[in-house]
Amino acid sequence: MEQRIKGTTGLLALIGSPVGHSGSPDMYNFCFRYHNLDYSYMAFDIKEDQVPAALDAMRLFKMRGCNVTMPCKTAAAQNMDELSPAARIIGAVNTIVNENGKLVGHMTDGIGFVGNLKDHGVDVKGKKMVVLGAGGAATAIQVQCALDKAASISIFNPNDPFLDRAKNTAAKLKAEVPDCDVQVFCLEDQDKLKEEIAKADILVNGTSAGMKPHEDFSLITDKSVFRPDLIVCDVVYNPEETKLLREAREAGCTKTIGGKGMLLWQGVAAYKLYTGMDMPVEEYKKYQA
Ligand code: NAD
Repeated sequence: MEQRIKGTTGLLALIGSPVGHSGSPDMYNFCFRYHNLDYSYMAFDIKEDQVPAALDAMRLFKMRGCNVTMPCKTAAAQNMDELSPAARIIGAVNTIVNENGKLVGHMTDGIGFVGNLKDHGVDVKGKKMVVLGAGGAATAIQVQCALDKAASISIFNPNDPFLDRAKNTAAKLKAEVPDCDVQVFCLEDQDKLKEEIAKADILVNGTSAGMKPHEDFSLITDKSVFRPDLIVCDVVYNPEETKLLREAREAGCTKTIGGKGMLLWQGVAAYKLYTGMDMPVEEYKKYQA
């Protein structure tokens, strides 16, 4: 590693808090070495109120880019020179590219979700979707799928503070992507949920339900909603197969897709934005094994 860092080496980083557990430095540094790119990647613990200073440093140090994690995603979006369409609608960024001093913010979580589905032979174009949740992951999915021409998205969320966020997303999408029919319902309305899933091609859990240590939990309690042609997806990647996915698979759903691929593909999208190159995914998987 020491031999790789020279006077010309460009810096990229992850900012957020905490970041010590992140696998991003390992992944990006492997890829830069693999492609012989003169870049290095670090992680910096940055709190929300430190975001403007961190972005100034990014400009000052002419850093090529930053990945942004919680709790900095919204503050970063508010301090960009330009936003991608998805980042603008969501009001949050997870990837910043420094284009010769102009900081351009992107949100690649939704791109990662769509990329993972493509990797499993599923195109969201024209699909009817039910998405559970209205937090960061669910909103990114809803916005990207609408931009990528899903026919309809029915959002279900418990009657908690996130429900207003769902309504806000639906209103923005109605204005920005009118061809996609976006509706919001309370998750407590189980009859409506059943009715909407019966009409849907794709069901997505975009909440943390089923994530460790609550792996014995699924928001879908009526297993009669599962049918062979219903594609069932989860954003949760720990465990790799959630209770939702296991029960869907056992009930005969032929395509069940976990969150691990979404995580990988959002990184692939960010790598392309930074370098213009395709991330060496297979080589990185081999290196990790
Ligand atoms: P968040 O806190 O922003 O949103 C949480 C959402 O879950 C809200 O809609 C909330 O209403 C809902 N929720 C929480 N507990 C619930 C419960 N018991 N019953 C029903 N709904 C409940 O969280 P987030 O950042 O969107 O993350 C959600 C999940 O997505 C986490 O498990 C996270 O690890 C995962 N995630 C995965 C990826 C990926 O690339 N695969 C990316 C981002 C997040």
